[in-house]
Amino acid sequence: MTQAECVFCKIVAGQIPSAKVYEDDACIAFLDIGPLADAHLLLVPRAHYEWITDMPGEQVGVVAGRIPKLARAVLKVSDAEGFNVLQNNGRSSGQAVPHVHFHIIPRREGDGLGYRWNAG
Ligand code: AMP
Ligand code: ZN
Repeated sequence: MTQAECVFCKIVAGQIPSAKVYEDDACIAFLDIGPLADAHLLLVPRAHYEWITDMPGEQVGVVAGRIPKLARAVLKVSDAEGFNVLQNNGRSSGQAVPHVHFHIIPRREGDGLGYRWNAG
């Protein structure tokens, strides 16, 4: 996929609609179209990078620095008990959209969402 075809670049450019909840010079955040829970957000840098390893660390820091504020808002509106921050890189990890993004996913005990951790 070229950058011109990238769905998140199109959202950043306003070429396709999104339920935007936050924006600044570096990034935007909008509701996931296929949410795992109500208020599941995606935090996306405006600049197109496929993997987080393609991004300068300073830019990762700026975008990731928005997570606490957005997660507090997610917790407030969803009344969740916790949340996951998920950031996938590559098809094997589950990345479907090749533009760096952080998922902020509200969680509740017994919500049935899970991940097969090897630790513990
Ligand atoms: P990932 O599997 O980490 O690449 O996650 C991509 C996420 O983007 C999925 O959770 C999709 O539901 C979401 N998504 C794809 N297209 C859109 C869109 N147009 N607007 C909002 N979310 C989208
Ligand atoms: Zn893009």
